[in-house]
Amino acid sequence: MRGGADYLAALKDDREIYLDGQRVHDVVHHPAFAPIATTMAELFDLAADPTNEMTYRAPEIDAEANWVFSIPRSREDLTARRRAIETWARHTHGWVGRSPDHVGAFLAGFAAHPEAFAAEHRDLSSSVVEYHKRVLRESLYVSYAIIPPQVSRATTAHAWDGEFIQVGVVAEREDGIVVRGSQMLATGAAVADEIFISCIKPLTAEDRDFALGFTVPVAASGLKLYCRRPYATAASSGYDYPLSTRYDETDALVVFDDVFIPWERVFVDREVAGLRRQFFDTGAHVLGNWQAQIRFAVKLQFIAGLARKITSVNGVDKIPGVQEKLGELASVASLVESAVLAAEYTAEPDDAGMWRPGGRAVYGAMGLQAELYPRVLAILRDLAGGGVLQLPASVADLHNPATRADIDRYVQSPGVEAVERIKLFKLVWDVVGSEFAGRHHQYEMFYAGAPFVAKGYAYRNYGYERHVADVEEFLAGYTAEPPR
Ligand SMILES: Cc1cc2nc3c(=O)[nH]c(=O)nc-3n(C[C@H](O)[C@H](O)[C@H](O)COP(=O)(O)OP(=O)(O)OC[C@H]3O[C@@H](n4cnc5c(N)ncnc54)[C@H](O)[C@@H]3O)c2cc1C
Repeated sequence: MRGGADYLAALKDDREIYLDGQRVHDVVHHPAFAPIATTMAELFDLAADPTNEMTYRAPEIDAEANWVFSIPRSREDLTARRRAIETWARHTHGWVGRSPDHVGAFLAGFAAHPEAFAAEHRDLSSSVVEYHKRVLRESLYVSYAIIPPQVSRATTAHAWDGEFIQVGVVAEREDGIVVRGSQMLATGAAVADEIFISCIKPLTAEDRDFALGFTVPVAASGLKLYCRRPYATAASSGYDYPLSTRYDETDALVVFDDVFIPWERVFVDREVAGLRRQFFDTGAHVLGNWQAQIRFAVKLQFIAGLARKITSVNGVDKIPGVQEKLGELASVASLVESAVLAAEYTAEPDDAGMWRPGGRAVYGAMGLQAELYPRVLAILRDLAGGGVLQLPASVADLHNPATRADIDRYVQSPGVEAVERIKLFKLVWDVVGSEFAGRHHQYEMFYAGAPFVAKGYAYRNYGYERHVADVEEFLAGYTAEPPR
């Protein structure tokens, strides 16, 4: 099994990443990327350690592989898959959204349904199967960019001014396609092995050239990543910003300057209907978004624990009104956790024998995420009060004898020394107030599409038929006739 050192060694390639107007030459040692690369390496080490029970014998390759990349073929497989995802999520407390298990789940769903990629004009079914085998064999870290750049949502790519703003096929060769344009927003791509590129937003028949699905190494010639401002570099220390300095995944716009993609990496070739089949007919979308809810549940549990702890340190936890707020937070955390388990409980095998988590539960939780996460942050803010700002500017104030005595005296709580109290409230600030926190707020609202998109999934996957029939049966039981 691939360990952390192998993963880090593989990142030393010629990837073309830009940050603050400069080319980044070595992500493993660059201050913006080294922290998240280290965290990812820790995940690979965790998976390779047999005591964590994250591996199984994968029938597709007849070798050991990580459960997070598996095609679940029984309810037990699904449980093992969930446990492995949780093991990784617990290591980052749910603060890393695009660890390799996210896109890994999509790729497993694709491979379970190669028939969805056998288009009339080009049969690409072997591409998805063989690629998934590589993922299993090499524990490949694949991130994705499956949204057109936010140029205009009034139209789709074919109607935008300027050719190939969204990534599309600029030329076909015997051995593959050449792509040009851009796609958003590849979280983690700077420290991933490869990127899966596609388009999950609906396209029209005129957008055929942009209807693609393919994978590409991050270091492919002509591929560029434009990363947003990093938060890890702006943080004064790990003590002051414990999350920003460990889990800043970075998000990037991906730009293709005529990049060649061989056929064995192409999953969908200029076919609008193929995009739908790829994400939805295969079950990849529900499997991938179940992973996202497993990770989200772990994050909410962490935030609930944090809220409970600060109320105890501040001595307000016996107040009924405070307990009510903690109770609301506990309710949200329990609901999401319950949805994760309900999805497993209601899972069923599809016609290819892949066990799909129950869509009603997965999308039910996802549809509310844009409301739940801001609400959770509001409760934590409320409970923290000014404690998150009544803090020394940085850890340096603790090391200066001129300031230390006052800090020890005035920034403490009963039984909690200043150094511990400050540590706790700095963590709270990294959850609710730092730039990292703001990005997470945006992430939880948008990672699976805008809120109207997430609610659309809930609408389509609820399964109203039985309930509408219940209502109709009830209505049929009485009439407008006056009672006799
Ligand atoms: C931090 C972060 C990380 C991300 N990571 C990834 C990633 O790893 N990979 C990836 O592919 N994508 C990623 N995304 C992108 C994400 O998938 C998109 O942000 C998401 O799909 C929403 O698209 P948009 O940002 O273009 O918003 P838009 O679709 O432009 O929506 C903006 C606003 O307009 C409204 N709106 C737009 N159209 C309609 C409509 N038809 N009806 C009603 N309201 C409408 C929306 O509700 C919303 O309020 C990430 C996003 C964020 C914020």
